[in-house]
Amino acid sequence: VKYIFVTGGVVSGLGKGITAASLGRLLKARGYKVISQKFDPYVNMDPGTMNPIQHGEVFVTDDGAETDLDLGHYERFIDESLNKGSNVTTGKVYWSILNKERRGDFGGHTVQIIPHITNEIKDRFYRNPDAKDDEIAIIEVGGTVGDIESQPYMEAIRQFQLDVGHENCIMIHVTLIPYLKSSGELKTKPTQASVKTCQSLGIQPDILVCRSDLPLDKAIKDKIASFCNVPSECVIQNLDVDVLYEVVLAMEHEKLADAACKCLHIPCPKPDLDDW
Ligand code: ADP
Repeated sequence: VKYIFVTGGVVSGLGKGITAASLGRLLKARGYKVISQKFDPYVNMDPGTMNPIQHGEVFVTDDGAETDLDLGHYERFIDESLNKGSNVTTGKVYWSILNKERRGDFGGHTVQIIPHITNEIKDRFYRNPDAKDDEIAIIEVGGTVGDIESQPYMEAIRQFQLDVGHENCIMIHVTLIPYLKSSGELKTKPTQASVKTCQSLGIQPDILVCRSDLPLDKAIKDKIASFCNVPSECVIQNLDVDVLYEVVLAMEHEKLADAACKCLHIPCPKPDLDDW
């Protein structure tokens, strides 16, 4: 299995879920089998008890799990059914660890965030011992990099990348390039700061998906690339669209799937457009 982790920086609600879902669609159109997961750093067991006005819709999977609304994006964009294992929350991770602790599974050891919580997170990343080379798991981590809540997830991803190898596990970081009307400039500093936060956690983003009000020209892409330590073709602009499904086409135009396949060392055939 190849892994693509999607994290977010600068502010929340930038469209990590839409980006992950769009990339899934583009990879599926290239013949890959795409698996989606979402890891949410909140302590609720699931969004079933959360106020939908605050948190958004609850998406119910075929096997009855009450999950995050992004799972709905995945099913609608990628057209693959999700299940109970597709949405993991901090609440579920701790529930499992605390039950093990009460059963005495830890044999007298002190139970700690590292390694016990991080191992529990790693164990929930999609696995398939029988997978062929054409399986890609796209795993989104909710929240924003730098949040206290998301730190065990970042640590788990860092370790996991080391375990499976960088060529099998890449990071996409979704960030914001704000436009300052008064100076008439697009600003890259928040993105630079967010990438530095990732780096300080031992994670180098491979691809940056930049939400922006205005198109990013070559000069600004080159600047982001240089300061954030990624090739220029791995800086992907993500402008506002009127209809969300257009994001898939916009990401194809920006060659997001090509960049991801290159980082994963897998072929990127032309997409089967008849299927769209
Ligand atoms: P996150 O996963 O980062 O919290 P979501 O993927 O749920 O963010 O997207 C947040 C909101 O932003 C969604 O309601 C979606 O409609 C909107 N959105 C995401 N990407 C775009 C885009 N390129 N253009 C317009 N709206 C977008």
